[in-house]
Amino acid sequence: MKAMVFEGESGVRYRAVDDPTLRDHSSAIVKVTHCSICGSDSQFYHGINNASTDTGFCVGHETIGEVVELGRHVDQVKHGDQVMLSGLTSKACGVCANCKAGKPFYCHRLQLGIYGNSCALHGGQAEAILVPDAKANATLIPEGISAEQALLLTDTLATAYFGCEKAEIQPGGAVAVVGLGPIGLMAVELAFVFGASQVFAIDPVDYRREQARTLGAVPLKPEEAAQEMTEATDAAMADSIIDAAGRESSIQLSAEIASNRGVIACVGISHHPTLQFPHLLAIMKSLTFRSVLSYVPMSWPALIPLLQSGRIRPERVFSHHMPLSEGEQAYTQFFEKQDSTLKVVLNPG
Ligand SMILES: [Zn+2]
Ligand SMILES: [Zn+2]
Repeated sequence: MKAMVFEGESGVRYRAVDDPTLRDHSSAIVKVTHCSICGSDSQFYHGINNASTDTGFCVGHETIGEVVELGRHVDQVKHGDQVMLSGLTSKACGVCANCKAGKPFYCHRLQLGIYGNSCALHGGQAEAILVPDAKANATLIPEGISAEQALLLTDTLATAYFGCEKAEIQPGGAVAVVGLGPIGLMAVELAFVFGASQVFAIDPVDYRREQARTLGAVPLKPEEAAQEMTEATDAAMADSIIDAAGRESSIQLSAEIASNRGVIACVGISHHPTLQFPHLLAIMKSLTFRSVLSYVPMSWPALIPLLQSGRIRPERVFSHHMPLSEGEQAYTQFFEKQDSTLKVVLNPG
């Protein structure tokens, strides 16, 4: 089959690789119908792999498709089902106190995996993908959810949701979102659902700020944000901040525009694994700072009804549809912010 493959220093290439095969009776093979590029794939675009020393693996952790092969222990999906794959795979032990209490995501021995970070778990920017422990990791796409919406449920919409939740948005609260890539824009949309009275949306790129303005946010350039927000809030600033950029500059700005005792939820990941932190400023304001990993399926009971009812329409972040064979062009467009690209759907075959 053909796939987007991490080649080390030269980045990501579209090329032939071996077809996936069933690993055991609990796994499944899914023929990919739609996949997308995440901001966290930036490391691969830049020829870096922060998770392993591997090269030669298929990248991508936002994938939906059709079940074409399954082990005999997989009984909750069947051949031909359309499924969505959480970008974060999980395996709970089944015997600890939290597992017995029906909370597998709080398992004391929870084993997490992310597709497309190493040869151990190939990604879904490919014509097909192996799903380990398919009972936990392949989910039937619910009624009334479009392919594009399901694709967002596999990672980015869930991440935006946890950003809003962990930033402790209160009804009537003032919110700021720093970084208006797809996750930031979806966080803007969700912040209003969480009850924000005002959302300040901050990004250096014009077309991204314009998109946030259409969602009802106050668009601001990073260099003007602190001053403008001081005036707009009578110096109260933002109670809740979602940092969807995850850079030193965005963390610094988040601390500056936070209210006293404000809460910052950082969901962004750049390709730098370590970052400087404005500790003194955070102490003086008594800020809460959270680095937030998205336990994707835990967001679904809240998000699926919002999508089904039309209350949120996050699929507006998809600005481009391209065949997987043009994946290299899609990476360049996405990470170089060319052609007003927000997010790209890739279709294999
Ligand atoms: Zn992601
Ligand atoms: Zn457990």
